[in-house]
Amino acid sequence: MSLSPASKPVKINVDRSAGRLTIEWADGHRSEFDAETLRLLCPCAFCQGEAGRPGWLDTNPTLTSIQTQLADVRLIGAYALAPTWADGHDTGYYTFESLCENCPCAECTAVRRRPS
Ligand SMILES: [Zn+2]
Ligand SMILES: [Zn+2]
Repeated sequence: MSLSPASKPVKINVDRSAGRLTIEWADGHRSEFDAETLRLLCPCAFCQGEAGRPGWLDTNPTLTSIQTQLADVRLIGAYALAPTWADGHDTGYYTFESLCENCPCAECTAVRRRPS
């Protein structure tokens, strides 16, 4: 898998007490994910479902503070991050590409909403 330069992180910062993940990309852009936003993006089969079956997040669950508390973030090779949540959930591998695509900043949100 090759990353486009824009989805290559140059700096990753995890602020556990604030519950925030900040990524600075090679193109100078900065993405700030709060823990809840990040939790809702969890790409694992349990959360998002697989093979057409809905996942846990499709049931619009009410997240508890334990479920949205970042306990740890592991770097998976050079392509992904795997957060561990305080409830023990750690099976979501967030590729940098998907994190880049899901950047929650106003600028990126506006671009995604624009019909192509
Ligand atoms: Zn998950
Ligand atoms: Zn952005």
